[in-house]
Amino acid sequence: MQNLAPRPGVLDISPYIGGESVIPGVTRIIKLASNEGALGPSPQAVAASHGDADGLCRYPDGACSNLREAIGAHHGLDPTRITCGGGSDELISILARAYVGAGDELLYSQYGFLMYAIAATGLGAKPVTAPEKSLTADVHALLAKVTDRTRAVFLANPNNPTGTYLAFDEVRRLHAGLPGNVLLVLDAAYAEYMTADDYRAGVELVDSAENVVMTRTFSKIYALGGLRLGWCYGPTAVIDVVNRLRGPFNVTTPAQMAGLAALADQAHVDKVRSHTLRWRDWTTEALRGQGLDVPDSVGNFILARFASPAEADGADAFLRKNGVIVRKMGGYGLAESLRITIGTEEEMRLLAELLGDYQRTRLAQAVSI
Ligand SMILES: *Cc1c(COP(=O)(O)O)cnc(C)c1O
Repeated sequence: MQNLAPRPGVLDISPYIGGESVIPGVTRIIKLASNEGALGPSPQAVAASHGDADGLCRYPDGACSNLREAIGAHHGLDPTRITCGGGSDELISILARAYVGAGDELLYSQYGFLMYAIAATGLGAKPVTAPEKSLTADVHALLAKVTDRTRAVFLANPNNPTGTYLAFDEVRRLHAGLPGNVLLVLDAAYAEYMTADDYRAGVELVDSAENVVMTRTFSKIYALGGLRLGWCYGPTAVIDVVNRLRGPFNVTTPAQMAGLAALADQAHVDKVRSHTLRWRDWTTEALRGQGLDVPDSVGNFILARFASPAEADGADAFLRKNGVIVRKMGGYGLAESLRITIGTEEEMRLLAELLGDYQRTRLAQAVSI
């Protein structure tokens, strides 16, 4: 008897667990679990996504020509060196599949985005992590983990879930230390939230090297996660490889239309950014005021660090009971932390109030024991 089995590695994958969106028995849910934009997408993008209903019987433009032109124009990039995907997750998987094989190593930092490990494992490759310092990727440690098996380094910059980032000098230093046959993927899913002078999403490095790609997404500041739309910018040879491996119609027509309209509405992006930064800082201060450790975050989310995993779990359960879903971080080795996406003002005020209530009841219980 010969039994059907997938390739080595596939069954070793711990499937990615997305943020939940229902709590049994609770009708009013506030979802702060998946870093979706606080104010929703641009109304113009929503309208464009259901624009041409008759066109739905046709295959999409497989080359995403108009959208790539628009992305190129907006970011000052050559559209022939851009390719689009069904979310940047698809591009991350394709890049791994293209350059990392069975027995190879895919390197990323300790608290790096979980999709990198999933992509490596499913290919029969070995996910290798390098320790971080202060919840931040450490170039020295990453370079120390490079072996002759290393085929790719994935760096989320800024990183999810830690909310920390590497200054461009550091990213350059990382690249300079890598052999030319190692692909450096700069995952800039949160680049639009960045205001730091020393940050670059990666364009300059892509332009000066043959082995660097930058990935971007419409799921975060553009809040179009449900449509699945991302893109990457890279050297011609890398883009050519991605175009060979991707599905010929991997981006739907509604996603392309919405992406175009979303890009055109930068006023909405500006509004989301300033709202998010304001309420991120407010929430950070509010939670610090309750005694929680909340590292500075540059993304649209914060990490609330409790004294123990049990306390984080207790806070999570208490929030859920009150209709608020945040993200537990055990999968990242940060079980004492909860990741909280920045939402509306009302949502942030409620979250802070609930966490305050939780801390007070816990303290009261501790005193009465
Ligand atoms: C959300 C996220 C992505 C994936 O976004 P898509 O929805 O697949 O475009 C990629 N990288 C990081 C670090 C993220 O947080």
